[in-house]
Amino acid sequence: MTITDDHLTANYARFGVEFVRGEGTRLWDAEGNEYLDFLAGISVSNVGHCHPAVVAAIQAQAARLIHVGNLYYTEPMLALAGRLARGSLGDGTKVFLTNSGAEAVEAAIKCARKAKQGGDVVSLHRGFHGRTYGALSATPQESKQAPFAPMVPGFRAVEPTAAAIRATVDDRTAALILEPVQGESGVWVLGDDVLLAAREACDAHGAALIFDEVQCGLGRTGTRWHFEQTPVVPDLLTTAKGLGGGLPIGALLAGPAYAEVFAPGDHGSTFPGGPVICAAAHAVLDVVGDEALLARVRSTGERLRAQLAELPGVGEVRGAGLMNAFDLVDGGAPDVVRRALLEERLVLNATGPATVRLLPPLVVTDAEVDEALARLQRLL
Ligand code: PLP
Repeated sequence: MTITDDHLTANYARFGVEFVRGEGTRLWDAEGNEYLDFLAGISVSNVGHCHPAVVAAIQAQAARLIHVGNLYYTEPMLALAGRLARGSLGDGTKVFLTNSGAEAVEAAIKCARKAKQGGDVVSLHRGFHGRTYGALSATPQESKQAPFAPMVPGFRAVEPTAAAIRATVDDRTAALILEPVQGESGVWVLGDDVLLAAREACDAHGAALIFDEVQCGLGRTGTRWHFEQTPVVPDLLTTAKGLGGGLPIGALLAGPAYAEVFAPGDHGSTFPGGPVICAAAHAVLDVVGDEALLARVRSTGERLRAQLAELPGVGEVRGAGLMNAFDLVDGGAPDVVRRALLEERLVLNATGPATVRLLPPLVVTDAEVDEALARLQRLL
């Protein structure tokens, strides 16, 4: 099939596949081929494609009210903020809704800087926080930053170690931002020692500890938020990706110490908190808040990692829950991903020359995991 993309900017390295339909863990292309989706739009379609409850919530809300903007309230927005705030960062947590992960990160950085009346932002090597200027400035990758220099002033990056964090965070630091599981660089689960050092350093110097859970939150690693599996509670938490069941949404959760920082006029955006997206998010939270599903995410992830490690040519396997990656001893990850898509109809992603990432929908069945492993076995 020939796809003509003369009118799209060339910033994505797309595969020549046009998808037309999705259901659960399956996708279909325009020629009728069926695919097994082990990427879920990079941790977006966590409840599976076109989950019936998400579809029904969108359809019902779209027929009632689509947009009023942020000068007014709607019930889906109020209720969603309540659901996100409750049981997350503590009593008094407040929520700023956004359209995307990067915007949630921007809001977190602005919140921390306003609270400290300025100050530096420290981020970690291997971290990824988005493509807008603040988020990009906290994403220390030469290839992503250099073409768009200069970055926002006052950002520093350090190695993701306890010692480096202790040596860097000081009284001028407004925020330390990190992904507790670093996704885009190949799924690196940060150790408790690193997270504890981050918490202690931020407490000692009056800095905000920001956990970017845009990729690893919302059940992806087997708990509603990943930090629940660690000894550390952050001050600010960003979420996005899976929250809207495929529609664009993000949120900044501001814990009690930062909940009152934003005042009217400080920050805003036209679309966030719209009733259709919030209705979708409610349906998503109904699914990913289920303890039985979360337990299954943890056990399925363990089995997947154990079986990936047995595949030919596979070196290190890393991950938590259903956020996983494996290294190929001889490299060639982009080619394996391309062949997986075109020859085995298995959707995966390469995070680097030697690393393949798997982010299946959280509702993936045991049979689908077996099928994906069989397809990988054939390929490798
Ligand atoms: N933060 C993390 C950890 C991410 O993985 C991403 C996207 O991959 C972002 C932020 C940016 O999110 P968005 O693409 O929705 O702006």
